[in-house]
Amino acid sequence: MSKALVLFSAGQDSATCLAWALTRFQTVETIGFDYGQRHRVELDQRAPLRAALSAWRGDDRLGEDRLVDLRGYGALAESALTTDRAIEMAADGLPTTFVPGRNLVFLAVAAAHAYRRGADVLVGGMCETDYAGYPDCRAETIAAMESALTLGLGRPDLRIETPLMKLSKAETWTLAHDLGGDALVALIEEASHTCYEGDRSRRHPWGYGCGACPACELRAAGWRAWRQTRP
Ligand code: ZN
Repeated sequence: MSKALVLFSAGQDSATCLAWALTRFQTVETIGFDYGQRHRVELDQRAPLRAALSAWRGDDRLGEDRLVDLRGYGALAESALTTDRAIEMAADGLPTTFVPGRNLVFLAVAAAHAYRRGADVLVGGMCETDYAGYPDCRAETIAAMESALTLGLGRPDLRIETPLMKLSKAETWTLAHDLGGDALVALIEEASHTCYEGDRSRRHPWGYGCGACPACELRAAGWRAWRQTRP
């Protein structure tokens, strides 16, 4: 049986990816990245969210977690996620939240860790239907990265799985419901973190957040669209 390493930020997407992996792989480990993100509160949610997902699953598949310090990279990136800069559209057509090459860096570091840990599958929440159209989230980019990693590590069996790639945010909630019903949805609402402002003081039906930043708006809109599909 395969061993998977999930890129786990404690957001809605990576929480759903971890639940997905726990239903498919014998052993699942997680890796997260401190890149100096403004919403560092998401790092604090990693342990409780992991514990909740492991309890939901009710077995011992969830293994070790590793948090990697990438603050030097984050400082180079000068994104609105890593500096005190307004979140808006930049002249290059991408939002200022774009962290150049973020998923390429994360995947390369995760692959190095997977190599050492004997994992042959990387699981990431990259999604090309995301409103922002980040170029490092596209299926084409991930396929090229998979080729580069298999060649560069000499591991032809290494795979990158991106179960959310073609899903809308509403469909990501549907996937969570398909995997674990209302209990898993409630767990993700309560324990995952998405808000760019790091606000966990306000609770909405879809979870915690400021309710106004682009990440909150996207999460709230997806949640509402999903609820409308429910009886
Ligand atoms: Zn927010």
